[in-house]
Amino acid sequence: MKVFKFGGASIRDAAAIRNMAEIVRRYAGEPLVVVVSAMGKMTNAFEEVLRRKGDPQRQQEQISLIARYHQEIAEDLFGSAHEISTRIRLLMEEVREMTNRTMPANEWYDQVVSYGEILSSTIIQTWLEQAGIASAWLDARKCIITDDHFREGHILWELTHEALKKEVIPLSENGVVLTQGFLGGTRDGRTTTLGREGSDFTAAIIAASLRAESVTVWKDVDGIMSGDPKRIPDTVILPELPYREASEMTYYGASVIHPKTIKPLANVGIPLFVRSFYQPDQPGTIIRDTEEFSPVAVTILKDNQCLVSFYVRDFTFVNELNLSLIFHQLAEMDMKINMMQNSAISFSICVDYDEEKIGELRERLKGHFKIRFNTGLELVTVKHYTNTQLELYRNQTILLEQITRTTFQVLKDPGC
Ligand code: ASP
Ligand code: MG
Repeated sequence: MKVFKFGGASIRDAAAIRNMAEIVRRYAGEPLVVVVSAMGKMTNAFEEVLRRKGDPQRQQEQISLIARYHQEIAEDLFGSAHEISTRIRLLMEEVREMTNRTMPANEWYDQVVSYGEILSSTIIQTWLEQAGIASAWLDARKCIITDDHFREGHILWELTHEALKKEVIPLSENGVVLTQGFLGGTRDGRTTTLGREGSDFTAAIIAASLRAESVTVWKDVDGIMSGDPKRIPDTVILPELPYREASEMTYYGASVIHPKTIKPLANVGIPLFVRSFYQPDQPGTIIRDTEEFSPVAVTILKDNQCLVSFYVRDFTFVNELNLSLIFHQLAEMDMKINMMQNSAISFSICVDYDEEKIGELRERLKGHFKIRFNTGLELVTVKHYTNTQLELYRNQTILLEQITRTTFQVLKDPGC
């Protein structure tokens, strides 16, 4: 069995969906599970519905915009008199109904935003059928079982393995199994989501549970590159990467695959391909267990960084006790440190900028430290750096710098 994942860009309009279906057709002769995200930027559009909570009229407008987007794609694919338009209309009625319910914010988020994937998978499965590709629609909410940590459901692995084996194997005997990425469900049947961009993770969970032979993530890039070609000179495609290397790249901020994707696959040795849906004949990148890896300098940029510096108030030195206060609050607030450094009287960390969280952190620690912060920064990480990369950053305004045998990191002002 193979598992494919198609993200929002690969199914953003009717032409993209036709292209996606042709890729699926090539492999439809063997057992295949296809995981899809919401179409285009629809998850953002659903988030906007929630943001307009206090303004019912604008909220309805946003829901109508989402309805129109899907109806137009469906009309382009199926013509105007197809029963799919009734199904879309009914699903959008459910969206309106869900939007009006009262429940805790994170739970509400999952109940509403999940319709992005429900709509996309419904339309796409109907298209596969129309295109003569035998297929079945699988409800991921019944197979990817999570706890009730809404917006970031934690997988209950045993239950998920069992459910997937029971549901997917029989369906896969009759054609392609099409399901939603990003979605899960609690044991008592409430919808959860796995965190933004979580569809790659869904593909990995399914592949690991069913011991699939491989996972392929179809993207709008030719594979994993040594840097963003729009911002870094002389980038190349990396044809092969060991799991560890790919996993570290996602840790430092490479957005090409979701950070949680590698682990379940590496644990059972399932290779992950990253390939272009524009160029399905190209091999792309393969991530697997491999000894033969000759390191290439890889540059990863992370924008919207914030440097927070803590100064001890009474001229005592930074010590383990002070540090433990800071770490305790960071852990409690789910804030991840991207880089850190200490000196005699100060301790500095680089974190993703989130205005609310930074304010809260300041409140919690202001009794112990004087706190300064700089925002709008860029964190550059170069793995397997050479002199070329070191030279590149020599004359720039650097706020923090760190160098190990394999990795070089600088926190800088993007303008300088
Ligand atoms: N549709 C979800 C999101 O945009 C999940 C995904 O695309 O992987 O975050
Ligand atoms: Mg998406």
